[in-house]
Amino acid sequence: MRIDILTLFPGMFLGPLQESILKRAQQRGLLTLWIHQIRDYALDRHQSTDDVPYGGGQGMLMKPEPLFRAVRTILPELNAPVILLTPQGRTFSHTVAQELAGHDRLVLLCGHYEGVDERVRQHLVTDELSIGDYVLTGGELAAMVVVDAVARFIPGVLGAEQGAYEDSFAGGLLEGPQYTRPPDFEGWGVPDVVRSGNHAAVAQWRRATALRRTMERRPELLLSTTLQEEARASVTQFQQSSDGLSEPDET
Ligand code: SAM
Repeated sequence: MRIDILTLFPGMFLGPLQESILKRAQQRGLLTLWIHQIRDYALDRHQSTDDVPYGGGQGMLMKPEPLFRAVRTILPELNAPVILLTPQGRTFSHTVAQELAGHDRLVLLCGHYEGVDERVRQHLVTDELSIGDYVLTGGELAAMVVVDAVARFIPGVLGAEQGAYEDSFAGGLLEGPQYTRPPDFEGWGVPDVVRSGNHAAVAQWRRATALRRTMERRPELLLSTTLQEEARASVTQFQQSSDGLSEPDET
């Protein structure tokens, strides 16, 4: 997959996208990132990319010409999603990340200052994404969030043992609690079942704890009545549990 990012601050991308899993994905050719300086597409000799808003008001707005020129140069066929990061966009989520990972290419447009001239929204971008109900100083961090979450769905980026399809939100549930060594840390143990070696019992415990956690923290995720009933049953099971299915702090 190739992702082109248009930004006024390319330096912001240097660290986060060049470490760990994203670094490996790029080394293995699964993900190609192109970071473009919007200023390079400005037409005037000052290479200006922003101007005062018509009608007055605070701050500066990003001008349309450099953005149109950049996208038309980078994606002449305009045959891939051109996504503006904006607090006014549809909310980015697990489902949207999975949907975007189905494309061979994406173009991400990072706003700055007070945002972009409205004609960019109307006639250039094909999608608008928000990473949450708050306002950032620029679209760069939001673009990095999108790249990271989308990349996890590119086949081969995560090892088989880290499947994105078992994490929170996959299957509509939050992931349940997880434990690693040591078995006793400062007097706090781990549930017997996770150390039992009984795979069927562990799977059942994971399902039950995921349901309970979702019920407690994000009940609105339990869309079907079947899931809601299953979650209620597992909460009851935990309340009555004396068989190692409970988490240690709740026994
Ligand atoms: N004046 C704009 C408004 O009220 O909608 C906010 C502009 S914000 C200060 C500057 C840029 O940061 C935006 O153009 C956008 O690219 C980015 N941005 C800010 N918050 C964001 C969010 N929640 N999700 C995605 N991008 C965001």
